Amino acid sequence: MARQANSSPRNDALSLCVDIGGTKTALAFYGADGGELFYDKFPTHAELGAERLVREIGVHVRRYGEWRRAGRGIVAAPGPLDARGGILLDIVTMGWKNVPVCDLLSRELGLPFSLINDCDAGALGVYHSGYEACPSLVYFSLSTGIGGGAVLGGKEYTGAGNAANFGHIPVAGEELLCGCGGRDCLELYASGSGIERRYLARTGNALGCAGIEAAARAGDALARQLFSEAGSALGQAAEAVRAVLDPACFVFGGSVCHAWDLMEEQFSRCTRVRPHFADASGKQVLLGAYHYGKHEME
Ligand SMILES: [Zn+2]
Repeated sequence: MARQANSSPRNDALSLCVDIGGTKTALAFYGADGGELFYDKFPTHAELGAERLVREIGVHVRRYGEWRRAGRGIVAAPGPLDARGGILLDIVTMGWKNVPVCDLLSRELGLPFSLINDCDAGALGVYHSGYEACPSLVYFSLSTGIGGGAVLGGKEYTGAGNAANFGHIPVAGEELLCGCGGRDCLELYASGSGIERRYLARTGNALGCAGIEAAARAGDALARQLFSEAGSALGQAAEAVRAVLDPACFVFGGSVCHAWDLMEEQFSRCTRVRPHFADASGKQVLLGAYHYGKHEME
């Protein structure tokens, strides 16, 4: 929802940031100085629908005694989205289409909400957690899906709205069809859900990504191979990004990074990129949403 003139938050008002992800939803309140005052997270259960999730967000927000001091909300969610209209257009991994998330949240909490792509927010959050000196930074988020963001000269670069959609860079592969309509997108090989799908297809065994990682460490040859192929796919994509943007910093984050040592050798064979890693707090998206809201106010 567009912020209206008569609802401009006061300068000392708190910011409520919400990160809607395929697996979990997290929220945090930030003071005017950017300090985190409250943090909570819970499973998303996308299959129960957006309205149910918004009600649950309301329940968790009200656990913070000072929640009424919030002057605005910023919600980050997977793209593609219509940021101006506050609408989630089509979240394939969650089965959601055309969800007016800002209106729903505004109605639930009585606050104006703005919307940012979670990957852009993640990149901005990484930038503001120790990389402010970096003139150009790209961030790869490797979790259920793969997203990315680019921060150039301290500002997130969004292109026409969905730039830096690194999960859909084509890589050498097995001609797998992607939900986006393309073939052999990075996400099919190096995301948590991609690794799980490939393991399931070969073994009939529906293990989660963490379970496949554990299997690889225990010597499961197929699991090891899948992570090694994930590393190769990631290296190819990183090399493509390097060729286009030549950013000063490549930062990787998200749950799949836990298995980086299983991917590293093939990654390094495919690219000259030297990776940096986001801290494992998983709060980059929330922090980035806060900074996005702050920029909007200026
Ligand atoms: Zn794709």
